[in-house]
Amino acid sequence: MTAEETPETPATPVAVVTGGSRGIGRAVVERFLADGYDVGYCYRTRPEGAEEIERLAEEHGRVVFGAAADVADEQAVTEFLTAARTRLGRLDVLVTSAGIVRDSPLATMSGDDWRSVLDTNLTGTYNACRAAVFPMIKQGGGSIVNLSSVSGVYGNATQSNYAASKAGIIGFTKSLAKEVARFGIRANVVAPGLIATDMTDGMGDKARAKALAKIPLGRAGSAAEVADAVAFLASGRAGYITGQVLQIDGGIGN
Ligand code: NDP
Repeated sequence: MTAEETPETPATPVAVVTGGSRGIGRAVVERFLADGYDVGYCYRTRPEGAEEIERLAEEHGRVVFGAAADVADEQAVTEFLTAARTRLGRLDVLVTSAGIVRDSPLATMSGDDWRSVLDTNLTGTYNACRAAVFPMIKQGGGSIVNLSSVSGVYGNATQSNYAASKAGIIGFTKSLAKEVARFGIRANVVAPGLIATDMTDGMGDKARAKALAKIPLGRAGSAAEVADAVAFLASGRAGYITGQVLQIDGGIGN
């Protein structure tokens, strides 16, 4: 609490989102701004939608901080988290949404495709959580939501690299939840199914029809539907939930 704040005027909560410029991460940024958070977000290279995000922040009377930071680069992520905390004053919530796919049958999968997916998705999650946990401990609590995938729960042909990274995120988060609970920090996973974003835009018609056929609700989900679940898990309304995997998949897992 700063000198000007009184118990009647609590600090504005701060959320940081990796991969917040597009897709699910972008919807999460928008959700948090609407919910009254100041928000920091990073992207790898493309500051897509930055003006629109700024406009939205202004509309909600909130502060937003966006920057390029490759989550696979430990130093870059650490510097980004430090810059976000300096600009926004604290850190209450971390959401790791930065992720990539490089689908291929294992027999033809290159080492580069294996490593880039593991480096971005799994090591990227480690890098961001590692940089966030200590400030959260010092602050006396926090909440982490890591993006996995139903591929990490059930596996998916041609996604051995992606599924391994996303299954790793589940084990990582469950362990972290046990480790940091005593500091008032919760850590949970959201595992989406087929969500309409740039990541799934490139799917062929045949692959899309096959994927849709497996979804009891019969449609792809929206990024906003995932963001609603992320916002719930991040909030105090989920105060007794930690170490859980919430599938948002139209019923695939039932
Ligand atoms: P998008 O491809 O739409 O957006 C990806 C975002 O992550 C962009 O902001 C991108 O920035 C950023 N990003 C990618 N690589 C890096 C990196 N190395 N460092 C920093 N930022 C990076 O993805 P989605 O929104 O669809 O996916 C978000 C998360 O949800 C991912 O973890 C994905 O695996 C997971 N997910 C998605 C599903 C879906 O159906 N869409 C299903 C299940 C899980 P830039 O534009 O600069 O590259």
